[in-house]
Amino acid sequence: MTPPSSPVVSCPTCHKKTEWRTDNEFRPFCSERCKLIDLGDWASEAHKIPSDPANDDEPSNQDSYYL
Ligand SMILES: [Zn+2]
Repeated sequence: MTPPSSPVVSCPTCHKKTEWRTDNEFRPFCSERCKLIDLGDWASEAHKIPSDPANDDEPSNQDSYYL
């Protein structure tokens, strides 16, 4: 028994096994949906990074209220 010629990879988004095919334009994702989800996650993470300049004026001792 020989394995299929196409290597199988795990979709980064849903971890479903999918064949790495040159005719799959969404590789290494299993589908366009998973590719868009991954790009969406990346974009949302990027939007979290910029700090809010308004918070720089707030006193940092606000943290003591949560102790
Ligand atoms: Zn997937």
